[in-house]
Amino acid sequence: MNPTINNLYLRLYLFILGTSTFFTGCAFAAQLDIKQRGLSEQQAQTVNLWITHGIDAVEQTLSPIPMDSLTIEVVRKRYAKEPVPYAQVDRGSPTKVKLQVNANASLEDFVNDWTLYHELSHLYLPYLDTPSFWLNEGFAYT
Ligand SMILES: [Zn+2]
Repeated sequence: MNPTINNLYLRLYLFILGTSTFFTGCAFAAQLDIKQRGLSEQQAQTVNLWITHGIDAVEQTLSPIPMDSLTIEVVRKRYAKEPVPYAQVDRGSPTKVKLQVNANASLEDFVNDWTLYHELSHLYLPYLDTPSFWLNEGFAYT
């Protein structure tokens, strides 16, 4: 499909999403469950602050995350060269955002990394089939 057409569809979708969330008000608070593995107490506190900030930032930009509960799994990645070298959304039950992190990254490093915002943005769209991945990635990229 022509990228310009894709872009138009994305803009149309974002417009519809924006107006629908505006009118429904999305008055719920997601229950957050952060599971961490391999982090010290100090690193775990940094990660908790970062994730809380990231959710706030995404919800202020888009709207409340459209889920009743959210699980975020954080695993230490050894020899990482960036704050979040790998992440994905797992559409199981419950839906999870899985993050591999550099345990030594600072809060500022994490906040300045794009990955968490990107993965959280995926939660606003349902899982789409392979030919429609451009919509998921295009939405999360914006
Ligand atoms: Zn993505």
